[in-house]
Amino acid sequence: MITVEEVRRRAEMDAKTYGYYLTPQPDLLQGFLDGLKTNEDRYGYPLCPCRLASGIYEFDRDIICPCDYRDPDVAQYGACYCRLYVNKQVYESQNLPEVPERRPQDKQQRAYSAETAAAKQASTQAGQQKIQPTQTTVKKKLWYCKQCGYVVYREDPPYICPICKAKREVFAEIESKVEFMG
Ligand code: SF4
Repeated sequence: MITVEEVRRRAEMDAKTYGYYLTPQPDLLQGFLDGLKTNEDRYGYPLCPCRLASGIYEFDRDIICPCDYRDPDVAQYGACYCRLYVNKQVYESQNLPEVPERRPQDKQQRAYSAETAAAKQASTQAGQQKIQPTQTTVKKKLWYCKQCGYVVYREDPPYICPICKAKREVFAEIESKVEFMG
């Protein structure tokens, strides 16, 4: 299992790479790091500590920390949705901004549906079988960044290319017919 210290080091390195800072409020920071560790232990990946997860990788992919929405949120508001990552100005002023949810409604709704279905099943089967949340088809597509050639296989293109920082609009779809059943 990952330790909180490892989670902290990873977040610090990531912040440094992108010119960000971790939240200047120690209690808040500790809570986020604990939340990320708990989620990674539970799901196998570090889900955003401020959002509801479905527990299905493909549904949760956009909110694995650092999420798809971090860079546009920091650019627009000075902080990510949780306010774990902040820019220099916010870090120095210690005034954390309000950051609205950028994640699309349909993606949030899938997490609620999956969780409700899992809870119902768990209560009737008392953990005897593996929980199967709602059967939903995720149409994965192959996307490539026209600027740097980065290729990723997922439902939507990322908001920002993780390699060259090009915007979502720069991604183009490569024809693919594979579907993932979540
Ligand atoms: S909102 Fe912040 S803490 Fe949450 S996943 Fe995005 S980058 Fe991580």
